[in-house]
Amino acid sequence: MSTIEVKKITKKYGEFLAVKDASLSVKAGEVVCLLGPSGCGKTTTLRMIAGLERATEGDVIIAGKRMNDLPPEKRDIAMVFQFYALYPALNVGQNIAMPLHFEKLSKEESDKRVNKVARILHLTEVLDRMPGQVSEGEKQRIAVARAIVRDPNCFLFDEPLSRLDVELRHSMRGQIKEVLSNLSKATVIVTHDQLEALTMADRIAIMRDGMIEQVGTPHEVFAKPANVFVASFIGTPQMNLMEADLKSFSKGVASVSLAGSPVEMAADPAVSSLRPSKVMIGIRPRAFTAESSAGKSTIRAQAELIEPMGAETLIHARTKSGGDIRVVVPRTQRIKVGEVLHLKADPKQTHFFGENGRAVRA
Ligand code: ATP
Repeated sequence: MSTIEVKKITKKYGEFLAVKDASLSVKAGEVVCLLGPSGCGKTTTLRMIAGLERATEGDVIIAGKRMNDLPPEKRDIAMVFQFYALYPALNVGQNIAMPLHFEKLSKEESDKRVNKVARILHLTEVLDRMPGQVSEGEKQRIAVARAIVRDPNCFLFDEPLSRLDVELRHSMRGQIKEVLSNLSKATVIVTHDQLEALTMADRIAIMRDGMIEQVGTPHEVFAKPANVFVASFIGTPQMNLMEADLKSFSKGVASVSLAGSPVEMAADPAVSSLRPSKVMIGIRPRAFTAESSAGKSTIRAQAELIEPMGAETLIHARTKSGGDIRVVVPRTQRIKVGEVLHLKADPKQTHFFGENGRAVRA
């Protein structure tokens, strides 16, 4: 069974902890993206799974077997790197067939497998061309074809699309996802591009400073971020994160002082566990509506900068307490610079974070 299990792995370079106690399990047929800012330990985690780095502590289990002491070639995995190299003296078909070299297959069987993956990745037409005669997108697909031609235990991808331009990346995301979804293998993809993770992953593991902060479906990490870091990292434009004073909580309604306005907002019952205190409230720019007049649940802010984004408009506004707030409204809702907005947040999309930065929800 193609599965990957990472149990409390740690990687130390001298005294520096690059990965701390990371645990993750990937089922057969599941695509998990490791996502996080530069230097957070994504590649090191992937390299420990591959056997290119030795875990200082913890276990790497692939297809049910502990792999810590096995070199990469004994782990039966296929990797696609950011800087994949094609052999320039071999044609596309021969490049794809390279990993089969060691399997001692008949020429007929080898050709059959190459033709099959070429069909899957739409490369049949270019099999006889040399690497210098194919496009960047085709080169990327050749690298993927080379990985899947061998039927390995699992797949590991390290920033597989980062060399491609935006448009090509967009179409390749869908193509790779489609190919992987038909292969029933455990797959781990490293990326720093949240759009890539949100579109390709069944689940996303978000890393920061060597630690996994949250693992969840794209919907979960977006709609229920576990902490302030995940909330601020996922979603564009970024979630508004505002310090607030929680005054009281009664019958499902929290009374807060937020952005200079006294606001009453429906809140998760778990908010009752917070004593009157400083909290962080997170509201995504699309979770506001601009009301025509002030009310008990509105925040007052003045529009300062208007950024048209096509079907929507991004407004940067200044709150009474002097902070910035980002609001996205439909293009048809005309708002002018200087206009005073009365912003009402959707309670279902309002996140409370306690003093430790962790989300408070039932
Ligand atoms: P990026 O998105 O920039 O590739 P990453 O999340 O993949 O970043 P890693 O490459 O895993 O990050 O690196 C994690 C941390 O470990 C970084 O601070 C990096 O400088 C450090 N590091 C990586 N390899 C080594 C090494 N061989 N020796 C010492 N430190 C290392």
